Amino acid sequence: MTGIARNINKCRVCGGEDLVPYLDLGMMPLVNRYLSRPDADAAEPRFPLKVLLCRGCSLSQLSVVVDPKVLFSEYDYYSSISQTFQRHCELLAESLKREMNLTPEDLVVEIASNDGCMLSKFKALGMRVRGVEPAKNLAKVAEARGLPTLCEFWDSDAAKMVEASDGKAKVVVATNVLAHVDDLHGFIRAVKEVLHPQGVFVFEVPYMVHFIDRTEFDTTYHEHLSYFLLRPLQRALEANGMRVIDALEFAIHGGSIRVIAQIEGGNLQPKSSVQELIRLEQEKGLFDTAAYFLCAERVKLIREELSVFLKGLKGRGRKIAAYGASAKGNILLNYCGLGPETIDFVVDDTPAKQGKFYPGNHLPIVSKDVLHREKPDYLLLLAWNFADELMKNTAEYGLLGGRWVIPIPALQVVAVSPEKRRHATPE
Ligand SMILES: [Zn+2]
Repeated sequence: MTGIARNINKCRVCGGEDLVPYLDLGMMPLVNRYLSRPDADAAEPRFPLKVLLCRGCSLSQLSVVVDPKVLFSEYDYYSSISQTFQRHCELLAESLKREMNLTPEDLVVEIASNDGCMLSKFKALGMRVRGVEPAKNLAKVAEARGLPTLCEFWDSDAAKMVEASDGKAKVVVATNVLAHVDDLHGFIRAVKEVLHPQGVFVFEVPYMVHFIDRTEFDTTYHEHLSYFLLRPLQRALEANGMRVIDALEFAIHGGSIRVIAQIEGGNLQPKSSVQELIRLEQEKGLFDTAAYFLCAERVKLIREELSVFLKGLKGRGRKIAAYGASAKGNILLNYCGLGPETIDFVVDDTPAKQGKFYPGNHLPIVSKDVLHREKPDYLLLLAWNFADELMKNTAEYGLLGGRWVIPIPALQVVAVSPEKRRHATPE
């Protein structure tokens, strides 16, 4: 192991040492490190990608932690690019404003605020906002949009800086960041420091129930250190004087939960949803190892099925491209052994990714123009959790006879009906 990664031998939530490995995706490159040259092999470190289950609290976590400075100082995922996520942020801002009776004096702090997608919705509703985002490129974009952003990792020092400049927060939001955090207890303590005594901490994380139900192994990558059930989250919050008052499942990012917590002694009553979800986790057998080993078996089957299918098409002379150069897409391709010999290129709508190369397999990332020019027979939807949106985005490709391949949760090929194509295509 190099100096930028260390092995895990204790559970991040409960400190337990009984950690059972169940999913092993092999040695993987860092999937958010897009390459500017196709031959950058030597500069591309690989680390084991293996998931362990803690028998004490049911937290799943990676067996290694890669230095966050390596992972997050530049980050090429821009939240605002997804229409689905835009709408999701709007709904969250509206519902919190209503339920918390937020007024224009109230402060909303977002941790890992990315390009400010979520904060812009709160600002539009009239609240004061403050972002905290360690990736310089993203913090700059947010600032340019008029969203004050502190370019730091979230910890007690950052909490103090926010409080000094803006006061206590009525709402602290953190979407898709807790899974990235090694020092989970320190993170929660810092939230508690900046939170108003009657405020709420609202966070969203990919939900392990969905991971297991739909075999979402491609959400496993080095940035995602933890894979949460509600049970270990509740334990981590309670250990730091916070209480879960609501938990809600929803569909974004392949399946997530939103958890709302307040400082112990706050005025909100816990909803029945909290106990109901923990009961569901138990009923699904997720406090035991067997369900996890079964999931790992299904992962192997997906690899087998997808690689046989696509390599078979290629063998018959079909042209295949992929769409959505996301981190998860890279895991899927690398784990399934799919590279330039099967797939010609990856289309992505993010200008910052175009012209670069996918880590590991070194596939070129191109704009949609190339899709229309090259007209591949099949388009593998790597960001399959946004499949509907992606098929709409590439409607023209479908009308010209192209087929989409959705790899997860089950291999599926979708085509526009010949009837519809005839009506839409000019003769
Ligand atoms: Zn544990």
